[in-house]
Amino acid sequence: MTRHDPASAILAAADRTAAPPLAPDLARDGRPVAVVIGAGFGGLAAAVRLGVRGYRAVVLDRLDMPGGRGSCLLRGGYRFDLGPTIVTVPQVFEALWGLVGRRMAEDVDLRPLDPYYTIRWPDGSTFAACGDTERMRAEIARLSPGDVAGYDRFLADSEARYRIAYADLGRRPMHRLWETIRVLPDFARLRADRSSYGHAAVRFRDERLRMAMSFHPLFIGGDPFNVTSMYILVAHLEKAYGVHYAMGGTGALARAVAGLVAETGGEIRHEVTVDEILVRDGRARGVRLEGGEEIAADVVVSNADAGHTYRHLLRRVPKARWTDRRLRRSRWSSGLFVWHFGTRGTRAMWPDVGHHTILNGPRYRGLCEDIFIKGRLAEDMSLYLHRPTTTDPSAAPEGCDSFYCLAPVPHLGHDWPVDWGVEAARFKERMAAVLEREALPGFAERIVEEHVMTPADFGTRYLSPFGAGFSLEPRILQSAWFRPHNRSEEVRGLYLVGAGSHPGAGLPGVVGSAEVIDQLVPDPVPA
Ligand SMILES: Cc1cc2nc3c(=O)[nH]c(=O)nc-3n(C[C@H](O)[C@H](O)[C@H](O)COP(=O)(O)OP(=O)(O)OC[C@H]3O[C@@H](n4cnc5c(N)ncnc54)[C@H](O)[C@@H]3O)c2cc1C
Repeated sequence: MTRHDPASAILAAADRTAAPPLAPDLARDGRPVAVVIGAGFGGLAAAVRLGVRGYRAVVLDRLDMPGGRGSCLLRGGYRFDLGPTIVTVPQVFEALWGLVGRRMAEDVDLRPLDPYYTIRWPDGSTFAACGDTERMRAEIARLSPGDVAGYDRFLADSEARYRIAYADLGRRPMHRLWETIRVLPDFARLRADRSSYGHAAVRFRDERLRMAMSFHPLFIGGDPFNVTSMYILVAHLEKAYGVHYAMGGTGALARAVAGLVAETGGEIRHEVTVDEILVRDGRARGVRLEGGEEIAADVVVSNADAGHTYRHLLRRVPKARWTDRRLRRSRWSSGLFVWHFGTRGTRAMWPDVGHHTILNGPRYRGLCEDIFIKGRLAEDMSLYLHRPTTTDPSAAPEGCDSFYCLAPVPHLGHDWPVDWGVEAARFKERMAAVLEREALPGFAERIVEEHVMTPADFGTRYLSPFGAGFSLEPRILQSAWFRPHNRSEEVRGLYLVGAGSHPGAGLPGVVGSAEVIDQLVPDPVPA
């Protein structure tokens, strides 16, 4: 890689003399410094891209390992992925390896899953999703023969939305209002005003299939009854790119991307929390850590939640758009209750429980309304059950299983937030009863390790506003131009990546946001 002159085009010499001094370990080469706050997948991908461009990326994260929500927990020989488990569109990762002239397969063992996931309903019926159109048609016909033609139309609908909302808008900056206005005719033609469920209801008569084809926004904390039908694009995304698992867990994928940061001459400092972005004359100049250390930067990239960035890290900066009031009134994604547990001697048990299982409760619409609109903790629940040991036995000691069970729950910003100090034990008991009845009879007495995360933990671990699982909800009026821009509207020299910025949550989204800022951050001035 070429070395560059310290004088960056984006930082005038006069500003530089007044900037806080570089910490000694950062002062050893002449490249312009890009400080990245947060080692989530968005932050790591940004650091790789800026490193390749000639910046010296310095990633600062409060956790003791990379990956953010994609970090993991190791206990008693069990490994628990704390967040993402489904890797789709591996090409967005492959592109990062391409930038350093290598292939991802040299570092990451990605395994395609088949089926992708299995959905179950309380009446005992099931649906196995996969990438093969004929097998999918057969699954549809098994549940509702009259809906096969609707499925074919739905697939075409999905691809059309994929082409516009993911392949085009999702890959480029959307900070100019004109860019959003320009696509309005397409959005109108594709009925973006309809909800995901609303669109599925047009194509399918069977209520189970309506659920199976519309629930995907829940994967990124959105209400299928209110999130735009553009999100049905996921059906095409999964079909075209598959559903994969990274052997060694998502943490292994995060470590591999972190390795690329080092390869491009960047560094990651763990267990440091940024307390403030330093701003002078309307431009970001660096950051101050909790404890007082200041690090000067030519460019600051925040992979911290956009809400946390504007509300806390820029607390002293007057805001034109992302005021505290606006952030409070925005719609936030759901919270998550996640129970990680390791069971002893169970590998041969529950053979019908595969890698990914969705267990529907008795209500779909009503439960979503409780979670997203009323903000109340319902008695019933729908669950996602992760059993990585079916693909990767290294997640548990021999013959044992590692699980996580996740329920979407209200975030903590509703009028009467759930007191998880009181409710967590009760909720876990109810979750255990559902698992015992619907999927894993006898599991509870075999648990040897466990760990629970509630929205309160998302608040303390990731500094996630209102303990939301996925930042701002992906409503249409909180997407594209309406979402916090990748080039900050409030401060020059500040860029945003990750779930709270464009294009949004999910691994393809946050890694894609780094691709977007790559188009926005100016080149460092070569020597
Ligand atoms: C339980 C769960 C399951 C999921 N499942 C999937 C899935 O299967 N597939 C998929 O594609 N997506 C999934 N997602 C979504 C996906 O994981 C996230 O959208 C994505 O990982 C978020 O990445 P990010 O770049 O926004 O950064 P984050 O992961 O949010 O990381 C940001 C990092 O910044 C740190 N930080 C914040 N503030 C500061 C500060 N002031 N100073 C220092 N550090 C700071 C945080 O601690 C964190 O480490 C899931 C999410 C969750 C929570």
